[in-house]
Amino acid sequence: MRFEGKSALVTGGAGGIGAVLAASLRAEGARVAVSDRDSSGVEADAHLDGDLLDGAFSDALPGQAEAALGGLDMVFNNAGVITRGDITETSDADWSLTMGVNVEAPFRICRAAVPILTARGGGAIVNTSSCWGLRPGANHPLYVMSKAAVASLTQCLGRDHAHQGIRVNAVCPNEVDTPMLRTGFTIRGLDPEKAIDELNASVPVGHIASPQEIVDVMLFLASDDARYMCGALVEVNGGKPVT
Ligand code: NAD
Repeated sequence: MRFEGKSALVTGGAGGIGAVLAASLRAEGARVAVSDRDSSGVEADAHLDGDLLDGAFSDALPGQAEAALGGLDMVFNNAGVITRGDITETSDADWSLTMGVNVEAPFRICRAAVPILTARGGGAIVNTSSCWGLRPGANHPLYVMSKAAVASLTQCLGRDHAHQGIRVNAVCPNEVDTPMLRTGFTIRGLDPEKAIDELNASVPVGHIASPQEIVDVMLFLASDDARYMCGALVEVNGGKPVT
């Protein structure tokens, strides 16, 4: 029960990683506010749904979580979208969507959360970057840029706000078995089960990550076990780095 008496905000709380994260935090004693476009199917202590592309919504989210839960100790910027295709296939709408959800929303949420966590005497922010935030992957320049921005935001804030007792770190997964990955196969006309079998064979530990295998690292980063970690980018890849 590492999070007894603590309160957390989870964005993307209805997604593959977010729903497991919310349940795992609650199982360890935390009170959890989930935010998504529709988080009604997820058990939580508060549901703060809306569109992260709405700047005013993102600005208000940490304060709303604090009010709903009676405090705020942890913020997980987990929501994300993936846009595929090389730069010539990338539209202005792709740019606005990807930068809006993956970069601008975490920026706004961190900006609003820092004073709240400071007043609380400290706290933890865990951002979700990607292996592709550390090194480039083929044919996804917009997504890769957005995740590199999240990585940089994490390193900057990890440094700037450590003295206030706020630890800001990021998890950087490689492939995780969630709707984000599976819809990509469907869009490309591939059978998701067959495609995942093939991907599993490409990972040295023998399988792509389950959401829980990523969440366990996020929980560690949010916990006191990681009390000396500030601005860390933690790659979780089953031995398969992006090359
Ligand atoms: P997912 O698609 O299952 O979940 C993402 C969630 O974000 C969804 O529930 C979606 O509704 C929410 N979201 C998207 N746009 C939103 C908006 N405008 N307003 C509110 N909510 C919005 O994907 P996931 O795999 O669980 O992804 C979680 C995080 O992990 C993302 O940041 C993703 O980029 C990152 N990640 C995933 C993988 C992977 O292979 N699945 C790998 C590396 C990093």
